[in-house]
Amino acid sequence: MNISLWNDVDIYFSSKLQKSDPIMNSILKANAEAGLPAIDVSPNQGKLLHLLAKLKGAKNILEIGTLGGYSSVWLARALPEDGHLVTLEFSEKHAKVANENIRNAGLENQIEIIVGPALGTLPILKKRLLSFDLIFIDADKPNNPEYLKWALELSKPGTVIITDNVVRNGKVIEDDPEDSTVQGIRQFIDLLSEESRIDSTAIQTVGVKGYDGFALGVVK
Ligand code: SAM
Repeated sequence: MNISLWNDVDIYFSSKLQKSDPIMNSILKANAEAGLPAIDVSPNQGKLLHLLAKLKGAKNILEIGTLGGYSSVWLARALPEDGHLVTLEFSEKHAKVANENIRNAGLENQIEIIVGPALGTLPILKKRLLSFDLIFIDADKPNNPEYLKWALELSKPGTVIITDNVVRNGKVIEDDPEDSTVQGIRQFIDLLSEESRIDSTAIQTVGVKGYDGFALGVVK
């Protein structure tokens, strides 16, 4: 493994393919200044989310796990003018920083943050009879199996469901992990493999965020 090479290649791609992006840079700066953990997606991953949302032609997007709104802004930039993104965040502090970042990005009319534990706020979306074109799961990993069930509840045929951090330095293949995060990911993968309503794959990634990966599924 050559971690420093992975980092350099990741930085090379973002410097070539994303050039200067003052808004995205300012979000990362504001997050750091507010003391948020740097656990947002990487710039290249953010751009991938953006492109996937564009490919899908997504008009309604759901994100579980906002942090400072970095991935929310990447995704919302792919929306048409009348598109909408709902993002769920447990921490009031994170949501406050995200709100400010979203306002600075000029996306406050398109992004709605709902604060609270996602398993408590997801039923609100069901009551509002919402269904989404793309769902990004990136919150507390032990709840991933429950988030997948909710994602299926709030989807329709063709909905794209993306789940981050499913590799965790390869720990996902540990048979009997002690870490509840890895347990959650394994239960999530089991559910994906048994669930007939979704067609899915998982991809390993390396780069500035280390060795990890994401799962991608399309609802049948
Ligand atoms: N998607 C963000 C990005 O790439 O910019 C990063 C999200 S970060 C990995 C995970 C976020 O999920 C944190 O802000 C954390 O507070 C939030 N979170 C943790 N548990 C949660 C829960 N039960 N409900 C909603 N959000 C939760």
